[in-house]
Amino acid sequence: MDIKIENLRVFNGVSFVAHSARVSGVGRVPCECGSREDCERCAGSGMREPTDEEIFSMIVENDYSSALEHVVFSFEIRGLSKGNALELLEHRIASHTGRSTRYQSEEGFDFNLPPRVEEILRKRGIDEQEYKALALSDAPMPEQLPKQERKILEEYARAMRTSREAYSALLELGAGKESARYATPFAMHTAYTYTINLRSLINFFGLRLCVRASPEMRELAAKLYMAVREKFPQISLVWCRGYNYAACPENEVRDSPQGRECPFKDRNSRVFIPTRKQIREGIALEKFDQQAFEKVREKLLRRWAGKS
Ligand SMILES: Cc1cc2nc3c(=O)[nH]c(=O)nc-3n(C[C@H](O)[C@H](O)[C@H](O)COP(=O)(O)OP(=O)(O)OC[C@H]3O[C@@H](n4cnc5c(N)ncnc54)[C@H](O)[C@@H]3O)c2cc1C
Ligand SMILES: [Zn+2]
Repeated sequence: MDIKIENLRVFNGVSFVAHSARVSGVGRVPCECGSREDCERCAGSGMREPTDEEIFSMIVENDYSSALEHVVFSFEIRGLSKGNALELLEHRIASHTGRSTRYQSEEGFDFNLPPRVEEILRKRGIDEQEYKALALSDAPMPEQLPKQERKILEEYARAMRTSREAYSALLELGAGKESARYATPFAMHTAYTYTINLRSLINFFGLRLCVRASPEMRELAAKLYMAVREKFPQISLVWCRGYNYAACPENEVRDSPQGRECPFKDRNSRVFIPTRKQIREGIALEKFDQQAFEKVREKLLRRWAGKS
């Protein structure tokens, strides 16, 4: 798919969150010196002021999250399908400005490919742009494809071509953009300017960096996660809800076909995260290995962002 995150900005950061926590009141922490009288950090009391980073991590880990609302991210999202944009907008604690189909012409619109079409192209080594070019020119799909796969590629191509043609025809007939847009598909690209605070972003990542999220939302979440991490490495403290809570709330769904690809559900692995239900049954998170988790995370990010 074609999702892009551009012009990412971060307003406020770790030090501002720490500042807000200090205004509220933050306790001292044990000093590493062992109460040495010449210690500059605790003057021998054994207790010192926490650093900004320590306060920030404590707030994330203990979920004192209103202080995280001071950190705000703004960016542009391009190449998201109109249909999946609705899923993004379900995240209500955010601000968004969308591309208008009433005022902008969508003639020659670009579009995303559905998961099954992408899968076929990947399996058969066909480039996505090459497929789109064939689709739009009504050229035949490669002969050597199995019949059902070929038919899927053809039907989808036909739908995109027809929709584009109908849009242009309606404009030509003077129906206007406001009416012509009714002929556009779920898959058509749209764009958003988006602003979200860190508390809400953690909630977004928790829900969408999960095998249960739709492929396009996972792609968006993975690309956003990587872009945010470049500017704000502390985002590494969070991942899916299971990781964030050390307990996955998906319970039995994780064992259903929808949870098939979850890498955290195997009780014998070093990245096993129990579900809430399992915890109540006495199954604990015992041998979680952070380094192993980080390897799994990088693999998922690359896969979901379409880089491997
Ligand atoms: C795998 C998956 C499948 C989904 N399937 C569906 C589906 O089939 N149909 C569907 O409609 N949606 C579906 N959703 C969307 C989901 O129900 C949420 O609307 C979406 O994930 C946004 O989450 P949120 O409400 O936590 O976020 P936000 O809207 O950003 O809200 C953040 C938090 O604020 C609080 N909050 C916000 N609004 C209210 C409110 N009105 N009352 C009380 N507290 C509030 C809640 O604590 C919430 O967690 C799905 C989501 C996922 C991840
Ligand atoms: Zn000390």
